[in-house]
Amino acid sequence: MASVTTGQVQQSGRTPLIAGNWKMNFDHLQAIAFVQKLAWSLKDAGHDFGAVEVAVFPPFTDLRSVQTLVSADKLPIVYGSQDVSQYAPGAYTGDIAAAFLAQLDCTYAIIGHSERRTLFGDTDEIVAAKTAAAVASGLTPLICVGETADDLEQHGASAVPVAQLNAVLDAIPAGTDFVVAYEPVWAIGSGQAATPDQAQQVAAALRTAIADRKGDEAASATRILYGGSVKAENIAGFMRQPDVDGALVGGASLDVDGFSAIVRYQKHVGV
Ligand code: PEP
Repeated sequence: MASVTTGQVQQSGRTPLIAGNWKMNFDHLQAIAFVQKLAWSLKDAGHDFGAVEVAVFPPFTDLRSVQTLVSADKLPIVYGSQDVSQYAPGAYTGDIAAAFLAQLDCTYAIIGHSERRTLFGDTDEIVAAKTAAAVASGLTPLICVGETADDLEQHGASAVPVAQLNAVLDAIPAGTDFVVAYEPVWAIGSGQAATPDQAQQVAAALRTAIADRKGDEAASATRILYGGSVKAENIAGFMRQPDVDGALVGGASLDVDGFSAIVRYQKHVGV
């Protein structure tokens, strides 16, 4: 189950994923301009999209435009939603069904982001239901877990993220691909990232939890991202950790040059 690190080269077999969570930023025109520029800038830099996957998570209202652009220009960038309804299509005013997102060729759906949990009341049960709905429509859930500063003080770093993950694992059928993002709430948008060691410790505990519930094969195949004040200057430290397979990036994903530099972490920092 454990990853093997040879020198600085990660031998896990998992393709790193750098994911940009735009939150409630960029209208659909800004989204088109951003994705075009990102694709050009990465292509110009010779980025190998097979070696490091690049995903963006625009607001719902941008997704159709992003789909049209990505499909027309055959851009090697994938995208997903920032949330998804737990319900099938029906009388749920304001919600967006997973089936609609699948029709827009979304690859991923972020579920359980700390802003959804704290501002919009997404409980562990709702996160599990949304995960089940996403999987049923063929979306890959990107499940966010993380402890608050209080949780950290009272329970240590891993207890809450592991409990949040355990609450959702039963909603994922055997053999289904999913991604986990460890995002300490105190690190999100604060400029105070976790240390690479802290991220590694929790990522390892999350991988063990997956192994316990889903088996070693699933644990070894599942990508675990770190999120929380990631930027070009600190990404390399996280990516050197054997159980960290990428990053979920908020603020720094809104700047094309900064986000490209994060995606190209192997080049510009010599990992
Ligand atoms: C996030 O919101 O998922 C996030 C990690 O934000 P930031 O990178 O701005 O801390």
